[in-house]
Amino acid sequence: MRILVFNAGSSSLKFGVFDCQPGRPASQARHILKGSFERFGTDGCTLRLDGNTTTAPHCDLSSATRAVPEILHGAGVDKLDAIAHRVAHGGAEFTAPALLDSATLARIEALTPLAPLHNPANLDGVAAARATWPDLPQWAVFDTSFHLTNPARATTYAVPETWRATGLRRFGFHGTSHKYVAQRAAEALGQPLRDLRIISLHLGNGASACAIARGESIDSSMGMTPLEGLIMGTRSGDVDPGLFGYLAREMGLSVAEIEDALYAESGLKGLTGSSDMRDVEDRAAAGDAQAQLAINIYAYRARKYIGAYAAAMGGLDALVFTGGIGENSPSMRRRICDGMQFMGLKLDHDRNLAVDLTDRAAPQIQAYGARVNVLVTETAEQLMIAYDVTNAMVKPKDTVLKVPVAVSARHVHLSQASVEALFGPGYTLTPAKPLRQKGHWAAQERVTLHGPKGEIANVAILGPLRPRTQVEISRTDGFALGLDAPVRQSGDLDGTPHVRLIGPAGCQDTDGLIVAARHIHMNTEDARIAGLSDGALVDVTLDDTGRGLTFADVLVRVTDAAFTEMHIDTDEANAAGIKDQIAGHVRLSLREAD
Ligand code: ADP
Repeated sequence: MRILVFNAGSSSLKFGVFDCQPGRPASQARHILKGSFERFGTDGCTLRLDGNTTTAPHCDLSSATRAVPEILHGAGVDKLDAIAHRVAHGGAEFTAPALLDSATLARIEALTPLAPLHNPANLDGVAAARATWPDLPQWAVFDTSFHLTNPARATTYAVPETWRATGLRRFGFHGTSHKYVAQRAAEALGQPLRDLRIISLHLGNGASACAIARGESIDSSMGMTPLEGLIMGTRSGDVDPGLFGYLAREMGLSVAEIEDALYAESGLKGLTGSSDMRDVEDRAAAGDAQAQLAINIYAYRARKYIGAYAAAMGGLDALVFTGGIGENSPSMRRRICDGMQFMGLKLDHDRNLAVDLTDRAAPQIQAYGARVNVLVTETAEQLMIAYDVTNAMVKPKDTVLKVPVAVSARHVHLSQASVEALFGPGYTLTPAKPLRQKGHWAAQERVTLHGPKGEIANVAILGPLRPRTQVEISRTDGFALGLDAPVRQSGDLDGTPHVRLIGPAGCQDTDGLIVAARHIHMNTEDARIAGLSDGALVDVTLDDTGRGLTFADVLVRVTDAAFTEMHIDTDEANAAGIKDQIAGHVRLSLREAD
């Protein structure tokens, strides 16, 4: 599909044309043309087209948009399938690209108070494009969508309920960029995204950090607005909110004046007078103390977020640098990473200096043998926008299968060492009841779980024994125990919380406490019929239950001998109104797997 992407700002219009194949990795999309109209003024603007700069007579968004068809024609681009618009704020409702009909436009317009600087310009761009191409489908892709997987603990400000009721919460931005570079990093490392914990540092004029665990954004440094977090070109990033009262009382500043200064006169500009990192680095090298301090503050803030996000994810597999500074400043990358060896993060200084990003390369710059991979790659927001719209335009293939749903109540899988600690040396568990997965059974014995808040007795033990003990509870059980168990796939236990297991002969403190991520066991034949392969992610709609529900991102695990069934936990079953087990029709919407 051929997609024209627009990124309309208050004084510029960036555009690009891409050819994308649905389902293929985004990095394989073909870039046909890229350009921008910049610095609209009364006597025209600058036009950049695939590296060439000229002046153009257009002084605003709509006249520049009207000039695009001729530019495309000149480049041999005469047929388009759709137009995709970058929109800054999609609030809590736009989780995916949205087709721009008038109802959707009205919903986006209603979000303007959340992004007063960005959304109006984006919408002006949409209006101009609709006037120029009235017959083409137009889509919006939102900077916020990727972060809507952030858990409530990351998005909720601890402020009065009446404030939160207005929709005030953290959202996060640069989502398209973080999503792209995380995918690109996984591709370059040759590992599935769902196995990785990644921190992406987008360091451009705007800057943000994002924690991406198993392909999902779980936290990011920008908040309700793009002002929170890292130091930026002209934005302050994190400040004490107490500053507002102080500035109002002591300096007599209005809300608008304070906001203006935090957006436009702060960050590198506030610290040095220049918002451009190249200037700041040159001045620091020439001995300017203000510039040196600014660089220190900039790197220190980024390091704090790396530490915080590694803690939030329980570890770190890869750090990715992108954005003008992340891509081009070896000295900033080094300042940020030096001294982080304690967490397995160490650069190779020669590789760091030799970074070459030609042809969408994503070179690795960690020291040989360092545990954390460090990559640099150019962000490709326009390409990712085109790719997301291409996939949204391809109707998902719905497959209806009759898959039984099994509700997994809390249980443990024990190692030999745990069995002996709980039941005595040399003890062997007694299989009492076979399970439907071949070779699996429930034991006659039971254990008690003990946490800082409470105990849960009579918990089932499932065999056979495993090399590592794993304790599977629901989120509700976690509150009863006073422990915060992460949602994990079976066997993915590094960095999970400890819980005490109590048996008749003793107790054991062990890690391995998880809320099991929902999944479908599927045998090879059923997978073939459904057109699924191991590792696919599907949306599953349960229609036959008391309260029909769609579960997103259900992992399909294909093995030859599997009994095909879907496993969900008790909280999920309650939400779907499932009493015990159902053998209903399950509608699988196939989605792009990572
Ligand atoms: P935007 O967020 O507007 O897309 P960019 O991603 O292009 O911005 O980033 C712009 C920033 O990147 C500026 O601060 C610029 O100075 C910085 N930058 C670009 N090249 C270099 C370089 N070689 N060394 C240091 N900083 C650089």
